Amino acid sequence: MAPPEDSVANPPPETEEANTKPISTILIVIAMHTEAAPLVSKFELVEDSDKSMFPKGVPWVRYRGKYKELDINLVWPGKDPALGVDSVGTVSSSLVTYASIQAFNPDIVINAGTAGGFKAKGASVGDVYLASAVAFHDRRIPIPVFDLYGIGAKQTFSCPNILKELNLKVGNLSTGDSLDMSPHDETAILANDATLKDMEGAAVAYVADLLSVPAIFVKAVTDLVDGEKPTAEEFLQNLVLVTAALDQAVTRVVDFISGKCISDL
Ligand code: SAH
Repeated sequence: MAPPEDSVANPPPETEEANTKPISTILIVIAMHTEAAPLVSKFELVEDSDKSMFPKGVPWVRYRGKYKELDINLVWPGKDPALGVDSVGTVSSSLVTYASIQAFNPDIVINAGTAGGFKAKGASVGDVYLASAVAFHDRRIPIPVFDLYGIGAKQTFSCPNILKELNLKVGNLSTGDSLDMSPHDETAILANDATLKDMEGAAVAYVADLLSVPAIFVKAVTDLVDGEKPTAEEFLQNLVLVTAALDQAVTRVVDFISGKCISDL
């Protein structure tokens, strides 16, 4: 994808002070309970019994705790109230990201989750990536400039030191509200030059960008979109195993962040 030069998502906070004060509060946004559970136990987080920071009746769940010097907030949009499945996708992830940034005022957002990967771009099941850019692939508005708005391509917050230290793979992430891939989506994903396909990343980036909070995207590959196996089957087969790789990568990112400033990342 070729985002316009000035479209950098999640620019570093504008004030020198925000850049150089130690990071104290982290917001981790995760779409599925299976992805969240290992991190909740790893960081010894507890579900917050005080629900007053979110609107009454929403299924969103906040886990909180102190890890090293960091206040960690992990939010999960919860189960759909009518159907009982995880509230995956762009709408719930945007809402929960918005409400959580307002409520917890984090120094940085980490959107962690699973993704489909393209083997043609070098992805394998179990790989963990840091997304270098995000875009949407299912917002087609064929009118000049609105087309670019729909795609919403953005470079993500640049964190060369995390990359150097953790040796994660790097690739573009394309987001849409479907697990499968229609021919239209495929064309758009190719145009986005994406290595990864998920259902939340670009939406979380949009909100973090609106509210000027730096955000990073840690995505572990559960299925190969251009592989032989049907996506849903491969996704479910690998979910638990790949979640362990995701858990490990997020822990290493958080360990690296601890004691540092935004400008050190
Ligand atoms: N059947 C699953 C549905 C999960 S939807 C269930 O048991 O609940 C898939 C989730 O994993 C989304 O949060 C999405 O971000 C991510 N994901 C993994 N592989 C994907 C792919 N190939 N395309 C889109 N999203 C994918």
